[in-house]
Amino acid sequence: MTQVADVATRDKLFIGGKWIESSGSKMIDVVNPATEEVMGRVPEGTPEDVDKAVAAAKAAFETWSQTTKEERAKYLQAIAAQLATRQEDIATTISSEVGMPLKLSRMIQAGLPLMTFGSMPAILASTEFEEQVGSSLVVKEPVGVVGCITPWNYPLHQIAAKVAPALAAGCTVILKPSGVAPLNAFILAEAIEAAGLPAGVFNLVTGAGSVVGEAIVSHDDVDMISFTGSTRAGKRIGELASQDIKRVALELGGKSPNVILDDADLERAVTDGVAKCFLNSGQTCSALTRMIVPRSRLADAEKIAAKAAETFTVGDPFSDDSRLGPLVSEAQLEIVRGYIKKGVDEGAKLVTGGAEPPQGTSKGYYVQPTVFSDVTSDMTIAQEEIFGPVLAIIPYDDEEDAIRIANDTVYGLAGGVWSGDPERAKRVARRIRTGQVEINGGAFNVMAPFGGYKHSGHGRELGKFGLEEFLETKSLQL
Ligand code: NAD
Repeated sequence: MTQVADVATRDKLFIGGKWIESSGSKMIDVVNPATEEVMGRVPEGTPEDVDKAVAAAKAAFETWSQTTKEERAKYLQAIAAQLATRQEDIATTISSEVGMPLKLSRMIQAGLPLMTFGSMPAILASTEFEEQVGSSLVVKEPVGVVGCITPWNYPLHQIAAKVAPALAAGCTVILKPSGVAPLNAFILAEAIEAAGLPAGVFNLVTGAGSVVGEAIVSHDDVDMISFTGSTRAGKRIGELASQDIKRVALELGGKSPNVILDDADLERAVTDGVAKCFLNSGQTCSALTRMIVPRSRLADAEKIAAKAAETFTVGDPFSDDSRLGPLVSEAQLEIVRGYIKKGVDEGAKLVTGGAEPPQGTSKGYYVQPTVFSDVTSDMTIAQEEIFGPVLAIIPYDDEEDAIRIANDTVYGLAGGVWSGDPERAKRVARRIRTGQVEINGGAFNVMAPFGGYKHSGHGRELGKFGLEEFLETKSLQL
């Protein structure tokens, strides 16, 4: 086992191109969820730190916003090149902070941010920033100073999905990463520094959401907030930002449906669906947590799901045998165990798993991979985001019923449809009110727009759609 052994202390913030001390003296402890030990510390920033970072970003905007797209593409390519040299460091750090098994972290937690930064030069090359409309020249300009506020579950991916397109658009950035998994953001700051980005274009301030986060959202000189996190925090940010009509993009929670139609390959659909629910111990905003199956095939689906769940060996993220690491924190563990108990209390059928700690774990925030069946839409476990490896199988009577159930939550982030007939699957997918729907297990595409309907937020990230988020439109009447 090769976990990060020493306590990684990052005692400075990256502001105006320099590593400087916070104006406060407190630090945030970062806890390794597998060992329950403090593995790192970062500054608990203050509103004064935010003022400095915003001033630096505002000053840098004057020149950065005037660079050509070719110049910005070179910088983004240079950042990607730096990230490429830090892949193992990023994967190890995030497996230690978040608990995702290392081999998955290499692919997802380290691989996706590299792809996102690396995709920017080609996206910029194909983006037209000017268009003639009759007698007008319509120009796309960077929004301005952007505050990026991010969560812990795919920490660097979520950062990259904001910072890379914001920089590519010509915006300058203040990043506030999650205090739960902030260490990876320091690796990005080092990569950006090594890439030679002009001072103040990218700034990093760590701290509490209620202090540093709200100071960024409320700051007069911040033009836009790009937020990923819980719906609760998203609502608060929307309220604060509305005070000065700030632009806001919100990527929030989900309770995503996976509709298995009666002509689907049940074995494949259920096995894949369990994996899409349990990835990162269920701590995935787009996790397919509600499996909607034909009532006549419920018993078979339960058997297949139980068998699939057994393959999710719980254990140390740094062991090759582990498929399910710990939950990120003790608080998260208590929340997830609470939901499992609630599922039992509300009358769902426990197919496998449960609220007791998994066998063989004496330390670490581990939970059993859990499958419920006979779930109905009125149950809490069918409505609320659990953020743990807990699958709810919901039976339906016919296609209309399946679509009704799929749309029967306040969320609208992702979804899946399985059918032997791809045209039928697409027809059903179009009726699901979510920002993404994968068909027969279609793979995640880092260039396709990602984002939510309803309480899952608004705005889209990734690819050219992600870049457009950070642009203003101006008409020059000629
Ligand atoms: P969270 O909302 O607690 O925190 C997210 C970030 O917001 C953190 O940096 C936090 O410090 C900050 N924050 C919290 N309150 C704030 C406030 N009042 N003002 C400003 N900033 C504030 O979420 P989390 O626990 O870190 O992440 C899990 C949640 O994120 C889940 O609900 C998940 O579904 C969601 N999520 C959504 C997506 C998506 O793209 N839709 C992706 C990943 C995670």
